[in-house]
Amino acid sequence: MSEMTLAIIKPDAIEANNTGHIIQRILDDGFKIRAMKMLRMSATEAESFYAVHRERPFFASLVHFMTSGPVVVLALEKENAVAEWRKLMGPTNSKDAPKGTIRGDFGTDVERNACHGSDSRENATIELAFFFSKLEYC
Ligand code: UDP
Ligand code: MG
Repeated sequence: MSEMTLAIIKPDAIEANNTGHIIQRILDDGFKIRAMKMLRMSATEAESFYAVHRERPFFASLVHFMTSGPVVVLALEKENAVAEWRKLMGPTNSKDAPKGTIRGDFGTDVERNACHGSDSRENATIELAFFFSKLEYC
């Protein structure tokens, strides 16, 4: 059954001009892009989006990174989209991510890892609603 997930191309990947390469990989992997936009998150928005991590030692640095430049947010549709997108991204730490994964090829370290993906169907629904209204889906 087709499902949707939220992807974010993070500021490091945009700064390095990898936006197009990452979108091409998404399409080549069989995802349909149902919505997409570029925006710059405010600190309040980034703190709210990553609220689950607010007690973690990396939280302040993560919010600083995610607000350091624009991001591209995408609603991706595919069968098993949540797991499929996490597989295409690779593991969180770009230093551990295999070549051929987006984080392995375009990320730098555990923070600057090129992209975000929802970790469950439930969180995908919440995260998609964080960025997109119903009218924005194509
Ligand atoms: N992150 C970090 N240090 C860590 C773990 C995570 O800076 O030790 C950042 C990284 O950008 C990661 C984000 O926080 O993508 C969210 O962390 P999470 O554990 O949810 O990883 P993800 O779901 O993105 O793989
Ligand atoms: Mg996560």
